[in-house]
Amino acid sequence: MEQKNLIKQIYSEVINPGNCFHCGLCEGLSKNLFKMTYSNKGPIPKLIRKPIKNDISDLKKIVHACPGRGIPYNHLSKKLITYKKSKIIGNYNYLYLASSNSNQIRQKASSGGLVRSLLIELIKSKKVDYVCALDEKENKILNFDVLVTNSINKILNTSQSIYQTTPLLHKLKELKKNKKYAFVGLPEHIASLRILKVKYPKDYAHIKFLISIYSGTNMYPGAIEFYLKGNGVRNINDIKKIDWRYGEWPGKLRIVTKNKILSLKKFYYNYLIPFFISKSCLITPDFAGELSDISIGDAWSPKLENKGHGYSVAITRSKVFDEILIKLKINNSLYLKKINFKSAVQMHAHMIEFKKVGSYLRIEKLKKKGPVPLYDLEPKNVTSLRKFIESIIGLIISIASNKIVKILFSLVNSRILGFIFKIIRQLWKSISKPTKRKGLNNIKIIKVKNKRVEEFLKT
Ligand SMILES: Cc1cc2nc3c(=O)[nH]c(=O)nc-3n(C[C@H](O)[C@H](O)[C@H](O)COP(=O)(O)OP(=O)(O)OC[C@H]3O[C@@H](n4cnc5c(N)ncnc54)[C@H](O)[C@@H]3O)c2cc1C
Ligand code: SF4
Repeated sequence: MEQKNLIKQIYSEVINPGNCFHCGLCEGLSKNLFKMTYSNKGPIPKLIRKPIKNDISDLKKIVHACPGRGIPYNHLSKKLITYKKSKIIGNYNYLYLASSNSNQIRQKASSGGLVRSLLIELIKSKKVDYVCALDEKENKILNFDVLVTNSINKILNTSQSIYQTTPLLHKLKELKKNKKYAFVGLPEHIASLRILKVKYPKDYAHIKFLISIYSGTNMYPGAIEFYLKGNGVRNINDIKKIDWRYGEWPGKLRIVTKNKILSLKKFYYNYLIPFFISKSCLITPDFAGELSDISIGDAWSPKLENKGHGYSVAITRSKVFDEILIKLKINNSLYLKKINFKSAVQMHAHMIEFKKVGSYLRIEKLKKKGPVPLYDLEPKNVTSLRKFIESIIGLIISIASNKIVKILFSLVNSRILGFIFKIIRQLWKSISKPTKRKGLNNIKIIKVKNKRVEEFLKT
């Protein structure tokens, strides 16, 4: 009976109301009970057999660590031993600007190639036996999976930022308890793994290091097909290769088809976001992977963007990574410079606000319709103007994600759409910036109690 109730809980709180984060944990923790299956609203778990008594302990772990039920960030962040506290980027030790000095790493990097520099160092120094990182399956276009490897060559060649909802935790049970792993994921994957490490330390000690990449917006599958249609390519099988961040930073979306090469600047292909934005990235307050050992993002700043040379921004939350960064700097593998809190926040002020204030407003609206993910921090005193801005964002997304609207827009050339979107985005940013910046400067985040926090405090 208990197993049935746990399944019911996962369905009623997460899957049915559309709160699934597509993380794959349901499959990764159970024994052939769930299978992640394709849907145009991202991969979701499907029950593939009847649950039995022996499934209870796996199901309890899933219920505890499912990001679709929300994450008690404040509670969990206290488990990290750090020097500084922040409720907007998570607690941390130091903040850095970094870029790999290896051309080989940087040329194929999303930003400064820091993630792969760290993975390679972790393998070389034997701090871990394997790394787990997302990659495109060999010769399978738009088919992604977690690569568990200790091959430096394979790490070097992992795909750049894959802007598509993809499970990452579905292979957890395949990891060997007597080996050491480093895991690269989006904030939600890292938060889920942190819960498992805090609640079941012995069972998850083999996942030694958690590396998060920043995540602002993510997209459902279909975005690339939409882009191709706008360029007269009807068949996805015509694609030979996709690079998400090709060439000089910030890079281009580059697609090689049988007959032509398509490429679109990073800022232009952002036009796909309103059409395909995933619900999960709208209902999480975590932009900077707040429960990681180290978080890495693009170092956006007008000065650096003009250089056309990729830089990553890094937030360390563990002494091990502070030491590794210094070591890589000393042996000249890495350009590394400490930056202050204000500079780090300024690089992403818009997106931090979108998560810290925006997600709260979006969740408040969703509460009227059914269960929502529960978090233990909330912004206080959100202005009416900010609420109005959120309504407009919501309206744009709901129109753009309509099936007929998508079909119509897919016929327009992507360069035209990209250009129009870039102008609208700049205009929108300048209109909403004062409110959002003011919002971020004045933002006061308070602790709140709910049944999700109580669950954690109890055990
Ligand atoms: C969906 C998404 C949204 C993002 N949003 C932002 C943002 O708003 N602002 C920002 O500053 N940065 C964002 N990033 C992070 C940024 O694009 C870079 O990944 C980050 O700066 C690290 O770059 P790097 O050069 O150090 O990494 P590299 O050395 O190039 O390594 C990239 C690593 O990322 C892994 N990876 C790629 N895609 C995924 C994925 N979908 N899930 C998990 N791992 C993946 C690869 O396996 C590889 O290990 C986003 C990334 C993704 C995937
Ligand atoms: S968010 Fe992850 S754990 Fe929760 S239902 Fe979806 S796949 Fe399962």
